[in-house]
Amino acid sequence: MVAITGTLVQSYNICKRQTWLMAHQIVPDQDHPYIEIGRLLDEETYSRDKKKISFENVVIDIIRSDEGDIVVGEVKKSSKAQESARLQLAFYLYKLKQNGIDAKGLLLFPEERRRMPVELDSDLEQELEHIFKGINLVVSMSVPPPPQKIGYCKNCGYREFCWA
Ligand code: SF4
Repeated sequence: MVAITGTLVQSYNICKRQTWLMAHQIVPDQDHPYIEIGRLLDEETYSRDKKKISFENVVIDIIRSDEGDIVVGEVKKSSKAQESARLQLAFYLYKLKQNGIDAKGLLLFPEERRRMPVELDSDLEQELEHIFKGINLVVSMSVPPPPQKIGYCKNCGYREFCWA
């Protein structure tokens, strides 16, 4: 059984090959501009009301606590991969719930001035549990799934690895 992370959940929805590569500690190109932009956005946006906390294999940003609510924020550069980001954030809510904490989620797209609430309901929990099984199946393969050209490839840190 692989240790499931938010990044694996996110990648599973985008590209199973990426999931396999990440889970096998094959490190993407850290100089890729898209990765650098993501890092800067994460460091600079919402820094005033953000607190990073980590537990188990999860690192999350608590951005606000209104009226007793705990809200977990996830900052993304663009909403193009919105569904994967939604699942990643749902995974964090799931992990919190397992630890006895009910939280709400908020996806933030600062460049688009958009935000999207995410709530963990039973359908979403089942969807995640289905994804966990899928991730374990993919990661247990002895070789990665073959590359398949998708729109995301041009922004992927494994681009050189897959398409050199
Ligand atoms: S470059 Fe494309 S095929 Fe390769 S891991 Fe990234 S998204 Fe998947």
